[in-house]
Amino acid sequence: MTQAFDIVIVGAGMVGAALATGLGRSGFRVALVDRGSAPEFDPSLPPDIRVSALSAGSERYLNDLDVWPGMLAMRATPYARLAVWDETRHPLSNLLPRKVADVVFDASNLSARHLGHIVENRITQQALWNSAAALNSVSLFPDNAVSHLENGDHHAAVTLEDGTELECQLVVGADGAASGVRELAGIGVTKDQYQQQAMVISVRYQGPVEDITWQGFYPSGPRAFLPLHAAGNGESWASLVWYDSPEQLAHLKSLDNRALMAEIQNAFPPELPLLTHIEAKASFPIARQHAKTYVNNRVVLVGDAAHTINPLAGQGVNLGFQDAHCLQTVIREAKRAGCDLADPEWLTKYEQQRRPANRRMMMVMDVFYHLFSNRTPPLHLLRNLGLGAAKAMPFARNRVAKYAMGIDDELPPLIRQLAERLPGMKQL
Ligand SMILES: Cc1cc2nc3c(=O)[nH]c(=O)nc-3n(C[C@H](O)[C@H](O)[C@H](O)COP(=O)(O)OP(=O)(O)OC[C@H]3O[C@@H](n4cnc5c(N)ncnc54)[C@H](O)[C@@H]3O)c2cc1C
Repeated sequence: MTQAFDIVIVGAGMVGAALATGLGRSGFRVALVDRGSAPEFDPSLPPDIRVSALSAGSERYLNDLDVWPGMLAMRATPYARLAVWDETRHPLSNLLPRKVADVVFDASNLSARHLGHIVENRITQQALWNSAAALNSVSLFPDNAVSHLENGDHHAAVTLEDGTELECQLVVGADGAASGVRELAGIGVTKDQYQQQAMVISVRYQGPVEDITWQGFYPSGPRAFLPLHAAGNGESWASLVWYDSPEQLAHLKSLDNRALMAEIQNAFPPELPLLTHIEAKASFPIARQHAKTYVNNRVVLVGDAAHTINPLAGQGVNLGFQDAHCLQTVIREAKRAGCDLADPEWLTKYEQQRRPANRRMMMVMDVFYHLFSNRTPPLHLLRNLGLGAAKAMPFARNRVAKYAMGIDDELPPLIRQLAERLPGMKQL
């Protein structure tokens, strides 16, 4: 059976579901397809292993979509401070204070109440599915994947695995890093696998909910602490992220929880609160990937389908929300101008805005990755000088913080220049 829509969005992850909500609220007839079922939140269950640091910019966007209050009503943990420092040991380490150049970004210096929130992905996704499903203009097709795509001159059509055919003007690929839509549309990617992987560990610690998220940089990769909600009995939940070589992570994964706890206590910096329990662990390969084009005729890509970045500063979904926001604005304007929703002139505007912004964030992540995953003394000196300078210059530090919060688009010039010199950046 064929059904007609204005837009078919494949992938109802956080980005696809946000875009469906935004477009549905503007009156477009949207089909939202996902191979999974509706996410479910149960407050009595431990936190989702996948959590994201959502920036103030994402909060504003989700508020505009009217989903933010529902997310807060479920669970979200604000953080007011973000700290980073270098943990590499060198011959002079014993003569110097442990952290010569720790940098703390503080919301109070920006006249803000918080820098962002740590939110479980399941919560963001559920709030967005609920809001999309509540709109008459949005039809959900859960438990269904795409088997065929027609990307014609006059219309597009998507065939689902159960045989349903969805006809439309525009198909959006929001189906994540291994996007099937991207492949069916013949869009290639440039890809670089990092030598590190990320292990996420859900834990409980003794003490009230902390208002700080921190990251210590070791030559083998960063180790990070992200606070979550209270767990009762004077304990709180947190998410730890341990970046390291695939071999070291394979070793850690093979350990039982008692042995893993001992490894964490040995490897994490002393800032880690007293852990009482390990709930779950999972590891993720990390890669930098960029689609060669975001648009091919009647197909357009958003979120991880268009770009994946090193998650070390937790920016992936924040960029995806910026894509969704930009695309929904461009599509609305195309309609207002009486144009086809896949009009190349309008879709090019989307790519022209989003590609340089996404590329810029990829470059910043790579500056951090290359600078900190290196033991050579000149680089050690350079990064500590950099951190020291950030510490000494509140103006520069606040600009970096605003960039990470999604409030400011421009990076301080020094970081931009460093990034442009990195290998592989030219072809992105
Ligand atoms: C360890 C780690 C930590 C991270 N931390 C952060 C963080 O703190 N902050 C942050 O901003 N980002 C973070 N990220 C990145 C963030 O998780 C991603 O950028 C984000 O999930 C991308 O969202 P998306 O909706 O584009 O794609 P996805 O979340 O991948 O969603 C894709 C959706 O498409 C569906 N799908 C896939 N294929 C098909 C198909 N063929 N047919 C139908 N449906 C399909 C899937 O079921 C899924 O629901 C982190 C990533 C990692 C690995």
